[in-house]
Formats: sequence, C-alpha cells, structure tokens
Amino acid sequence: MKKKNPVPLLEFTSKGIYCSLADVYLDPWRPVAKAIISHGHADHARWGHKQYITHQDNVAILKHRLGAIVVSGKAYGETFSINNVTFSFHPSGHVIGAAQIRVEHRGEVWVFTGDYKIKNDGLTLPFEPVKCHTFITESTFGIPVFHWPDPVEVHTAINHWWAANNKAGRASLLLGYSLGKAQRLLHFLDPSIGPIYTHSAVGNMTAVFEGTHAFPPYQNLTAETSKKALAGSLILAPPAATEASWLRKLGDYRSGFASGWMHTRGARRRRAVDQAFVLSDHADWPGLLAAVKATQCENVITTHGYTDLFAQYLREKGWNARTEKTNYEGESIDPKPTL
Ligand SMILES: [Zn+2]
Ligand SMILES: [Zn+2]
Repeated sequence: MKKKNPVPLLEFTSKGIYCSLADVYLDPWRPVAKAIISHGHADHARWGHKQYITHQDNVAILKHRLGAIVVSGKAYGETFSINNVTFSFHPSGHVIGAAQIRVEHRGEVWVFTGDYKIKNDGLTLPFEPVKCHTFITESTFGIPVFHWPDPVEVHTAINHWWAANNKAGRASLLLGYSLGKAQRLLHFLDPSIGPIYTHSAVGNMTAVFEGTHAFPPYQNLTAETSKKALAGSLILAPPAATEASWLRKLGDYRSGFASGWMHTRGARRRRAVDQAFVLSDHADWPGLLAAVKATQCENVITTHGYTDLFAQYLREKGWNARTEKTNYEGESIDPKPTL
C-alpha cells in the first residue's frame, strides 16, 4: 500500500529536477553538490557539479567531455539509496550509456526519461519500459507528423548515396551529432565502398567506445590528409562542422545530414544539405505514446520539445498531464557551438 509522501518526490527548481528527500538533482543545469545524470549530451550532463552518479557506460563519456570530475557508475537495474530514497538506471535506448532514472520512496515511483527512443538502433541497449506513477518524458518530436522510417532502410540509403558519390570521385560529408548519432552511423557504414574519415570531435568521442562496440576502420581527418585521399571517402562530422576553411579541405563533395528534423521540408531547406536522412535518437510520435502507455502511469510531465501539445493530447486521453520548463534543448537542426 502506497503511503503518501509529504512532498512531491521530484520538483522542478531553478537549478534542475530536485529530489528534496534525497537532496539530489537529476540532470541539473546549474552547479549542485550531487547530480544523477541520465546521459552524456551537453544539455543534460553539465560541468561544475561536485559529485556525479551515472550509468557505468556513461562514466568514460562524462570524463571525455567534462575532464576530471568525481563520478561513480552503476549498472542497469542496480538500486542505490540516498536518505531512504531508492534510485536505479534503466536503458532509454537514446545513445550508448543513456538511462532513464527511476526514483522510489514509500512505494511511490517516478521515472525521468532523460532522452529516449523506442526503436532498437542496433548499437544501443533498447528502451526498457518501467512501471511508475509519474512519468517525466521528453517530447522533442511530440506532434503526430513525426513517424520515423525503418532505420535499416535509412542505413542502406546512406551506403547507396556514398557509393554513388564514390563512383563519381566525390567525397561524402555526413553530418550527425558526435555522441550517439555518429557512432550509430559509423557502425552501419559499408567499409567496402571506400575509406572512412572522422572529424576529430567524432573520432575522439568514438575512441571512447573502442573495445566495447564494433566499428569499421576509420581515421581522424587531419591537416595532412590530402584531397586525393578524400576523393570517394565518407567523412563523418558533427552538424557544427560548417566552417568554410574546414570544408575547403574536402575538395569536391556532397553533404548529407542525419536527423529527425530532416522529416520536415522547412528544416531540410534551412540546413541546405544535398541529402536528408531521417534518423533520430529520439522517440517519434507513436514511440512517445507507446512509452507513456507502457509505464501504466497516472501522471505525465512533459519536458523539452512540443511539450504543451503533447501534454494537451494526453489530457484529452485521460492522463493527468502537465508541462514543466527545463533548460534541456532537444535535438537541434542548427549548428551548435558544442560539438
Ligand atoms: Zn540527448
Ligand atoms: Zn534532451
């Protein structure tokens, strides 16, 4: 039997999502003493906390991004208690090492998703539905227009596009986020087509996963890499790698961008790439609905993305749903300073 907690298990404060019973924050956006981190993207894992707790596969990612931090890693499903509040991490399927954070006190359960996707990407441990009373969900793509194509077909299309450029003697510049998307793209590239180069932001991040995940051979593009070597190659780079001086090094090339936003024509036009590939590490509309249903929750709190529209839809369907403001940014189509 659930006893009522004297305060909400999680509250939205100016520093982040706060559990006052345990005096700990989830993915805080201002420096705090103790932070539980869902995954390694810059808007969720920020610099300046005294102590970090995260999934064990995310420890190396955090150290790569944030330098010398005090961090402890936990396995999926492993429980740990702070002031009698029980926490555990569960796969969110978003990027390697990403987790939903389950919080339990006196039989009341809240789950904070961080970011997630439902479809198995073939590289990340798939999303695990976790039963809860209150579900705090991202809603980056929380309107009905977003339906993702089969990712296997998208990877095939990318290899066909590369092969055609290779045949024409041109390089293929493929843009995707340096954590998550880039490894997923790299994992499914067909190295028999040609050589694979990485922008250093992608290559150095991918090196963190050497030994734990399988990738075709790749090397960082350097000042010494010749245009001749790049002809016919595929170059994997973050969306922010749009500096003219860097692009001039590539010689004759075609560009492609892999993102959920490539689903909409306006976003494709804004990005002005030659080829759009619809591939996202976030849940699409059916994925978000399936996730909410699978938790069997009564309450839903939507954060970042189409929060209001998604919450309104859920209320119409009988959930007690509301929106809370956070500083998470979601997936962006624009170049960002943080690679
Ligand atoms: Zn993320
Ligand atoms: Zn996010």
